[in-house]
Amino acid sequence: MMPRGLHQRFLLAMAATLAVALLVLGAAWVQQRESHREIAALSRGSLQELALGALRGRGEAMASLLADALTNPVYYFDLLAVGEIARSALAQRDVAYVLVFDAEGRILHDGSPDIPGFGQPMQDAFAFEAVGTSGAHAQWSEQVVDVSHPIQIGDERLGGVRIGLSLAGPMRIEAEAVAALEGRARQASERSLLLLAVLFTLLVAVGLALTHLVSRALVRPIRDLAAAARAMEAGQYRVQLTSERQDEIGELIRAFGRMSESVDRHDRDIRRIAYGDSLTGLPNRLAFRELLDGELNQRKGSGEGLALLFVDLDDFKRINDTLGHDAGDEVLAQFAERIRHCVEIAARGQTSRVARFGGDEFVALLTGAEVRDAAAHAAEGILTELQHPVQVHGRQVFLGASVGITLFPDDATSSAVLLKNGDIAMYQAKVAGKNCYRFYSKAMDQAVERQVQLEGELRGAWERGELQVLYQPIVALESGQPLGAEALLRWQHPRLGAVPPSVFIDVAEQTGLIDALGQAVLARACADALRWPDGSFVSVNVSARQLRAGDLAEQVRRVLDDTRLEPSRLHLELTETAVLGDEAQAIALLARLRAMGVRIWLDDFGTGFSGLSHLRRVPVDGVKIDRSFIADMLRDPDDLALTSAIIAMAHSLGITVTGEGVEAQGQLDMLRERGCDHAQGFWLGRPMSTTELALHLNDPASRPTGAMTSGT
Ligand code: C2E
Ligand code: MG
Ligand code: MG
Repeated sequence: MMPRGLHQRFLLAMAATLAVALLVLGAAWVQQRESHREIAALSRGSLQELALGALRGRGEAMASLLADALTNPVYYFDLLAVGEIARSALAQRDVAYVLVFDAEGRILHDGSPDIPGFGQPMQDAFAFEAVGTSGAHAQWSEQVVDVSHPIQIGDERLGGVRIGLSLAGPMRIEAEAVAALEGRARQASERSLLLLAVLFTLLVAVGLALTHLVSRALVRPIRDLAAAARAMEAGQYRVQLTSERQDEIGELIRAFGRMSESVDRHDRDIRRIAYGDSLTGLPNRLAFRELLDGELNQRKGSGEGLALLFVDLDDFKRINDTLGHDAGDEVLAQFAERIRHCVEIAARGQTSRVARFGGDEFVALLTGAEVRDAAAHAAEGILTELQHPVQVHGRQVFLGASVGITLFPDDATSSAVLLKNGDIAMYQAKVAGKNCYRFYSKAMDQAVERQVQLEGELRGAWERGELQVLYQPIVALESGQPLGAEALLRWQHPRLGAVPPSVFIDVAEQTGLIDALGQAVLARACADALRWPDGSFVSVNVSARQLRAGDLAEQVRRVLDDTRLEPSRLHLELTETAVLGDEAQAIALLARLRAMGVRIWLDDFGTGFSGLSHLRRVPVDGVKIDRSFIADMLRDPDDLALTSAIIAMAHSLGITVTGEGVEAQGQLDMLRERGCDHAQGFWLGRPMSTTELALHLNDPASRPTGAMTSGT
């Protein structure tokens, strides 16, 4: 059944009321008509009775008079006189007939000149009673009242007289009276019918007016409110509702309007909080998702393309760890501005949008006809832009970014898959060495799956003998003699072959596997170094996580005790970042290690943000200049200047300097020229097994240097 509205219900009630009123009025009218009819019948009856009574009285008086007057003429049988009297009686008003009869009921005279019934007995219906009566006796029919009276002298009965009084006259009068009465009654009932009709019309009019009023005053505003509530339910919080009315409904409408305004305001606040990133002012992941869905919907089937760029800052964690979160925030804000700028330029007036997905992850959307080129252009722009350092808290911070690009509709058509693809492409850019961009390709999916698998496979890899420690020689620049070697871990995966540390060390660090692995490498390196010539050292990489674990000093102590390796032959390589994470604790730990006789080197020096002055505070024995500086040294005067500065500064502090990643003689010469102490690189020797290295250390000439050396 359909739900009935207020309006219908009210109309129904109104109709019911009117129907009842109509019934009551109708009943009253019928009742009135009935009583009119009854009154008319009663009046007619009593009038008749009255007329009859009067006629009868008159008849009796007349009959009695006639009987008296006729006594003598009948006695003397004077028909003439009898006739005279009968005729005079006949002449009277209403008298229909006069019959004088003898004792046997035979007609003596009827007032007519020739008396047709003379001597004949009376045969009509009244005759019998009329002849037998002893006093005045009345009988009647519809037409006449018949009054008879005996004619007698003393006790002797001579006969009688009958007088017939016509009822026509009185009846006519009565009929007239009744007609007049009925006429008046009809008039009265017509009047009351009119009154009833007017009353009913009035009632209907009042009902209609009431319905209209209720509809206007109650139903319509309630409907408007319901519509507004439905609109709000559908998410349209701003509804225009005002009312000038001063009653409760008006108050309700105004209250509703105020409520909608407040809900709308809150909604906008919530949206701003939920959809915006307070740090960069960019839309966040949520907002971007909606935007992307909208853009994709618009493009479905249109063939128009769209590109997503996933931009992730390389090693951003280092900034937070080393310079603090304020600086990290500042870097992100500046970086966001640069990305926005680059994307805008690449978009060339087409729709573009940049959002922050959280942390150091940004996503840009590009549209337009040549969207693939535009995306590549934007990615190149971002990478170029990042070559200029960011100024934070008076320091210059160099940043790199990895960019993954995915295209709609080529790579995927749904936003979820596009976002996943973009992430995969970005990850591949990281794996490819960071600070570059990659377009998504189907093959990447498998690569990422491999990445997840990797973690599982890395567990127990050491025990299964898949992991191997190789050693890359470190050479004294002055003499060209190898002094020792850096221990570098290799993973010979049964299916994938050689997996580089740049891939699996990250995984090991993230999962905590590095704790056990690091310890194993340390033990192996020390054991291997025992078989190398005296005085040669082994340099072992220590990850930030191992440093933070706190028991590094004890581990080193144990290994040295177990192997009986001279502590000075063990070097530990720590990255700047690892040291700077918790400087006070790190300084204490490094001091303990150095107190044991172990040497500490800062690895990848120059890529962090510590600046040279930092070297004064941290107790280290040497720094290894990152290979990116060595690689560009010959081309980029800035890199050469920095390398020179590092060398000079380190020497002033009594710190040894190693140049990493030497791949050419020119680089070697340049380093030597600048006074660098040690060098390491493919030019001098690739990572090799401990046996090979032992041979090489004993007889450097036994191994050819340069690119022909076996290793990675
Ligand atoms: P790293 O400590 O800076 O090690 C030097 C890296 O530079 C090695 O890469 C080495 O093979 C590479 N290299 C040496 N000479 C040259 C050259 O002339 N040109 C080029 N292009 N590269 C050269 P690898 O073995 O792939 O190791 C990468 C990084 O993985 C290492 O950087 C180190 O941070 C980490 N790592 C390696 N083994 C271990 C380990 O046992 N424990 C820890 N915690 N980290 C390790
Ligand atoms: Mg190293
Ligand atoms: Mg290094």
